[in-house]
Amino acid sequence: MENDYRTLLVAIDCSEDSGRVLARAAAVAGKDATLHLIHVIEPLALAYGADVPMDVSDLQSSLMDRARKAALEHAQRFAISPDQVYVELGSIEKTIQEKSDQLGADLIVVGSHTRSGLALLLGSTAKGLVPGAHCDVLAVKVDQS
Ligand code: AMP
Repeated sequence: MENDYRTLLVAIDCSEDSGRVLARAAAVAGKDATLHLIHVIEPLALAYGADVPMDVSDLQSSLMDRARKAALEHAQRFAISPDQVYVELGSIEKTIQEKSDQLGADLIVVGSHTRSGLALLLGSTAKGLVPGAHCDVLAVKVDQS
């Protein structure tokens, strides 16, 4: 069957699960589609509250540098060109959606941890992405044997 997807955006958290998510995204992309990769850093002020009592801009930029390095290493393993790797500052779901819109992506690929309760069927990131996404979202189960 022909692969309908032309532009894929894979979101990774740079954890050890990322290889599995990337492998699935690369398999779906095949050789005809373009695979882009995004890793989002949440602003420290967002993560720890807006009233962080010191200037965290140096810390933030060193976190961004480290994250960029890690994302590029993951990308290299799957032959994703560095200009298709984005390390962005922002809230995770919104930033992934915005990048996907900018790229005109037709599929977003994310990992999904199984949880109990409300996020039972999809991981919470995948679950949060679906309502605002303008394309299909593939949730790759990352904690199944
Ligand atoms: P969850 O099931 O909520 O733990 O979602 C994990 C998945 O969400 C990861 O495998 C990634 O696909 C995506 N994700 C989580 N954090 C980030 C992040 N900071 N940047 C990009 N994608 C992320």
